[in-house]
Amino acid sequence: PPIIVRDFAPALGLKPFKLISELMEMGIFASMNQNIDETVAVKVAEKHGFLLEIKHRGDASTQQAAKEKQAKAKANPDEEEVKNLVSRPPVICILGHVDHGKTSLLDTIRKANVASGEAGGITQHIGAYQIEFKGKKLTFLDTPGHAAFTKMRSRGASVTDVAILVVAADDGFMPQTDEALKIALGVKEQQPEKFALIVAVNKMDVKGANLDQVKNQMQQRNIAPEDWGGETVTVPVSAIKGTGIDELLEMIILQSEVLELKANPKAEASGAIIESQIDVGRGPLATVIVQRGTLRVGDAIVCGAQWARVRAMFDDQGKNLKEAPPATPVRVIGWSGAPDSGASFKVVKNARDAEKMAEEEEHRLKKITTTSDAAPKQISVESLFANIAATQQKTLKVILKTDVFGSSEAVRHVLEGIKSTKVSLEVVSSDVGLVSKNDVLMAGTGGAIVIGFNTKLENGVTPLAKHHNVRIETFGIIYELADKVKEMMADLLDPDL
Ligand code: GDP
Repeated sequence: PPIIVRDFAPALGLKPFKLISELMEMGIFASMNQNIDETVAVKVAEKHGFLLEIKHRGDASTQQAAKEKQAKAKANPDEEEVKNLVSRPPVICILGHVDHGKTSLLDTIRKANVASGEAGGITQHIGAYQIEFKGKKLTFLDTPGHAAFTKMRSRGASVTDVAILVVAADDGFMPQTDEALKIALGVKEQQPEKFALIVAVNKMDVKGANLDQVKNQMQQRNIAPEDWGGETVTVPVSAIKGTGIDELLEMIILQSEVLELKANPKAEASGAIIESQIDVGRGPLATVIVQRGTLRVGDAIVCGAQWARVRAMFDDQGKNLKEAPPATPVRVIGWSGAPDSGASFKVVKNARDAEKMAEEEEHRLKKITTTSDAAPKQISVESLFANIAATQQKTLKVILKTDVFGSSEAVRHVLEGIKSTKVSLEVVSSDVGLVSKNDVLMAGTGGAIVIGFNTKLENGVTPLAKHHNVRIETFGIIYELADKVKEMMADLLDPDL
């Protein structure tokens, strides 16, 4: 059963915003209507003096159920489910410091290993792709950067099985490498048997590449490499020259085998949204990864306040698919609106039910957002941004929404290029799709502003923003955006102006 922030908070005697801020302190971004990982829920409950027992019905894919299964060898009601479990491909994400080669690595892996029979297809960016290596399928999230990763893990079940931490051999560990490592280790702590971390030391071809230095840094961080007596699989690569890539893929497969990734393709499909956007011709699109069951054309699915009757599905080669088994990323057409990336979806009986559930959700959202007036401003979520607070510098926090992934990268680039000695700028989250209520709530809690680029506001966002005193700015021209942001940063220095 899903554990939703909205229901879980009162059960602990907490205001939802308090729970959200506690989750943030654990590095988890959650909003009112999101699922919390069971392991996280248990931890939070413990902190507040509760013992949380989770009863499972038929979901043997969870760790808990697997443990139960081991514990009692006698016949159990999940037998049917267990019988249907088959191996599924791992879902991999790439993390690391900017310019250390995440994008290059993703490109090199993809180009060299297009799934057989699909060569000649037109490569599309849908937020994830699948390759085949030595007869094994591997799914990569190709939205590099840990914002995406953090988001994925904050909702429902975490999507990623294997994280590749890219470290440039010449630079070694940098601030974002450490940040990414912290996040990855956090996940590992929560689900040690379900998650693997691999370090890829990239740019081995450059002058000044120093593998030993990186290994030394790994040791200092308690993730000593295997050949130094530790446990962390470490693979030297060059994304540009293409060296070490096969070894890296082999290591991913080995690690995945240890994780024993399984799913029941016969179950009703559920999974997570990888990214979404509004396409002028085709309407809202969303790339999903099925985590359980098989998604088929014609299925009715619901995801928060959005729903879809799956009209068509495409893979990253633009190929039309009739069905998507577990761990297969597909772009789904037929949505009522763009669902939030990272949110979980599930198949329901029919389109009518889906629409009804989405509407109820929408309704509930509205109710919550108008009644949850519980002084969100009093709550300090500064701990989330502790590293910045520590510098005593003023920070303009930005939640970014854009039409497509490409422009979010472009806008981030421009924003990161704005330099000021007194005010720093932080993109707390960036995503594609309409500016949503979620964005407003997150901005309200974290003291951020919302910037939309080439996108619009979802219905009801404006009054909600007013209510929570959240500033939203939308732009269609990038230099106007840059100018305005500079202005806002200057305003921060002298709030009386
Ligand atoms: P990202 O910011 O982590 O996605 O990094 P990119 O993939 O954009 O790479 C940043 C820069 O490093 C680009 O100019 C790449 O061409 C370069 N680069 C990436 N991998 C390698 C590598 O293995 N060797 C060399 N020499 N350059 C690389």
